[in-house]
Amino acid sequence: MTERRDYYEVLGVARDATAQDMKKAYRRLAMKYHPDQNPDDPTATEKFKELTEAYRVLSDADTRARYDRFGHQGVSGGAGASPFGVDMDMGSMTDFFESVFGSMFGGGPRTRRRSGQPGRSLQYELSISLEQAVEGTALKITIPRPVRCDTCGGTGAKKGTGPVKCQRCDGRGQILLQQGFFTMNTTCPSCRGAGQTIKEPCADCRGGLVEKDAEYEVTLPPGVADGQVKVIPGGGEHGRGGAPDGDLNILIRVEPHPLFERSDDDLYCVQVISWPQAVLGDEVDVKTIRGSVKMKIKAGTSAGQVYVLRGQGVPHLRGGGAGDQHVRIDIDVPQKLSSNARELVEQLGRELGCEVCSKHPSFLDRLKSFFA
Ligand SMILES: [Zn+2]
Ligand SMILES: [Zn+2]
Repeated sequence: MTERRDYYEVLGVARDATAQDMKKAYRRLAMKYHPDQNPDDPTATEKFKELTEAYRVLSDADTRARYDRFGHQGVSGGAGASPFGVDMDMGSMTDFFESVFGSMFGGGPRTRRRSGQPGRSLQYELSISLEQAVEGTALKITIPRPVRCDTCGGTGAKKGTGPVKCQRCDGRGQILLQQGFFTMNTTCPSCRGAGQTIKEPCADCRGGLVEKDAEYEVTLPPGVADGQVKVIPGGGEHGRGGAPDGDLNILIRVEPHPLFERSDDDLYCVQVISWPQAVLGDEVDVKTIRGSVKMKIKAGTSAGQVYVLRGQGVPHLRGGGAGDQHVRIDIDVPQKLSSNARELVEQLGRELGCEVCSKHPSFLDRLKSFFA
C-alpha cells in the first residue's frame, strides 16, 4: 500500500479553504495534469486521479467533515482503497471532472468518450523475401476486418430500434454501491459503463460488427528488417458510437534466403572456388542480392578467408548507403582425379614438399603443443 497524500496538500489549499478556493485550485491543477493535455506523460494521469480524488472528497461537505475527523480511513472503503471503489477508472474521473466544469477542451457538444467503443487493433504477419526487404516493396494484402454492420450502423440493435437507456443505471453508466455508511460509484455491470443496452439485437451482426475482407496497400522502404512492425493507423477494427477505429499492426517477417544470411545491414555468403584458383588467384563472379559482381581472388587464398564487398549489403533504413557483403571462401578439393591429374598433383606434391605452409603458424603451434 502506498502512502496517500493529504487531500488538502494535494490541492495546495489551507485546511479552512472555502469551497470556491478548492474548486479554483482543482480546476487549475486538473487542467495542468489532464491526460488529454499530457498524452506522453503517464505520471500526469496519476496526478489527475489523485487531484480528482482529493477534490471529490473535499467538495462534499459530508465527506469533508469525515475526512477532517478520521483522515483517509473516514472516507475509504478499507485500507488503501480508493473512495470511489476499485472501478473508478479514467473514464469516470474524466466524467466527474466534466460534471464539475463542463467539457473544457475543444468545446462544442460534449461527446462522451465512454459511450462509444473504440476498435481493437489487428495484428497481421507479412512474409517478404530478402530481395523485397533490400529493394523495398509495395504490395496489397487482404485480411478479414471487423467493420460496422450496415444494417444497424454499428449499434448492434435490430433495424428500426435503437439502443435503449440502461434501466439499472438510468443511462449514467455508473451505479452507487452502498457499503456501510458510505456509498461508492462503480461501473454499471449491466451496460458495462456504456449507459445503453440492446433490447432486440440486430439479426445481421453481433454487437454491431461484421467481418469483411479489407484490402490494404502496404509500402515498405528499402532496408526493412525482420521483426519490424508497420502500423496502419485506423486500419483495425471499426470503433462504434463515434469512437475511433483501431490500428492495423503488420509484423514483418523476412524469409530465409538460400544464399545470404543477414546480420543488421550486412550480408554473409560463401563462395566456392577451385583449388587452382585459390593457389594462383583469379577473378570470379560473386552473386549479390542485386545480381552479381566480379571479385578478385588473390593468389594464395585460404579456405575461410573473408572478402568484403563494400556497399553490397542491405540499404540503411534511415538513408545513407548500405551495409557490406562478406564473402567467405570455400575451396573445392576434387574427390576424383583422372590419372593425368593425379600424376600432376603428385608431381606438385613432390615439388612443394608435403609440409603445411608457414603462413599458418597458429595451426603449427597448436599441432606442436598437441604432440608435446
Ligand atoms: Zn447489425
Ligand atoms: Zn447501466
